Amino acid sequence: MHSVKPRILTGDTPTGRLHLGHWVGSVENRVALQDDYDCYFIIANIHAFTTRMDRPAEIRQSVMDIATDYLAAGIDPKRSTMFIQSEIPAIAELTFFFSMLLPYPRVMRNPTIKDEIRDKGLGENYPFGFLLYAVGQTADILAFRPEIVPVGEDQIPHLEMTREVARKFNQLYCGVDSHTEDKDYLAKGGLFPIVDVKLGRAKRLIGTGAPTETGNLLKMSKSLNNAIFLSDDADTLTKKIMGMYTDPKRLKASDPGTIENNPLWVFHDTFNPDLAWVAEAKERYQQGKIGDVECKRKLIDVLENVIGPIRARRETYANDPGQVLQILKEGTAKANQVAQETLVLAKKAMRQDYF
Ligand code: ATP
Ligand code: MG
Repeated sequence: MHSVKPRILTGDTPTGRLHLGHWVGSVENRVALQDDYDCYFIIANIHAFTTRMDRPAEIRQSVMDIATDYLAAGIDPKRSTMFIQSEIPAIAELTFFFSMLLPYPRVMRNPTIKDEIRDKGLGENYPFGFLLYAVGQTADILAFRPEIVPVGEDQIPHLEMTREVARKFNQLYCGVDSHTEDKDYLAKGGLFPIVDVKLGRAKRLIGTGAPTETGNLLKMSKSLNNAIFLSDDADTLTKKIMGMYTDPKRLKASDPGTIENNPLWVFHDTFNPDLAWVAEAKERYQQGKIGDVECKRKLIDVLENVIGPIRARRETYANDPGQVLQILKEGTAKANQVAQETLVLAKKAMRQDYF
C-alpha cells in the first residue's frame, strides 16, 4: 500500500554518534515532521568507507549507535523508516548512471568536498570513492523521489548537484523541456522531483574547539573531535563545556569579554530559551561583570535539558541491540521496495528495460 503523504529523505554517515549539530541542523526537524510526511532516514555506511575503509568494525558499531540515537531522539519506527544504505542495491545502480550526468570538474568544484578535504586533513591521496560519495548522495536522495530534504547548511552544494542530476535525467530520458521550471518537472513527465532543502534552526552549529589558523570556527562534526553528543553523560557534558573555547584574551572575570565568534554565546543563543538572561548576561560579559564559569554552568543546565530526556530514552534501546537491528531490518525491507520501484522506472526511461 502506498502512503499518500509527501516523502522526506535525509540521513547520516555512521562515522560516530549523533551530536548537537545534528539535532539543531536536522534531527529536530525530522522528529517534528514525522506526522505529516512519509520519512526515510538513511544510514550511509558506504559513505563512511570513504574516510575509514580500514576500520569496518567501527563503521558497523556506528551504524548501531546512529540507529540507537535516532530512536532516543524521538524518531518513531512506526511512523518513520530507518534503513542501511549498503542493503539497498538500487542506490548503487543509480549512482553509476547518475555519475554520467555530472561533469567531473563540476564534482570537483563542490565547495563541501573542498572543505571536507581541508578540514578532515585528507591531503591529496583521498580515495576516488571520496569524490564518488557526492554523486552517490544524489542517488541516495533520488531513489526515494522525496519532496523535502532536511539537512544542515554543508549539504546545500550536494543538494544542488542532486537537482542538476534530476533536471538532466528528466530532460534526457523523459523528454522534459530544458526551460521547464523546477516545480513543473513532474507534471511535464519527469521521473525525479527537483528537491527542496529544509534547513534547521541552526544551519551550521560550530564545535567546542578553537578557531583554525585563518580564524574560522569549525562546524561541530563527528570527525573533528569538537562535538557534544546526544549520548554524552552528565560528567562528560560538564567537562566539555568547562573546557570549551571562549574568549582567549579574557584571563579573569573582570576582563571585558568578546561575544562575537565565541562558542559560549553561540551555544546560549542556539539552546537557551531564557532570552532575557542571555541578553543581560551578554552585556555583563562584555563589561567584565560575569565570569566564564557562571555562564558555562548555566549552559550545562540548558544543554542537560536538551540531552537528558534523549539520554534516558537511549538506555532502553542501547540495552537491546536485537530490537534496534530488527527495526533496521524492517525499515530496510520497506526502503528497498521504494528504491527498487524507482530503479525500474529509471531503467524504463533510459530504455534499458530488456526482459
Ligand atoms: P562527518 O564529520 O563524518 O562528516 P558530520 O558530523 O558532518 O559527520 P554528517 O553525517 O556528515 O555529520 O551529517 C548529517 C547531517 O547533519 C547533515 O544533514 C548535516 O548537514 C547535518 N549536520 C552535521 N553537522 C552539523 C552542524 N554542525 N550543524 C548543523 N547541521 C549539521
Ligand atoms: Mg559531514
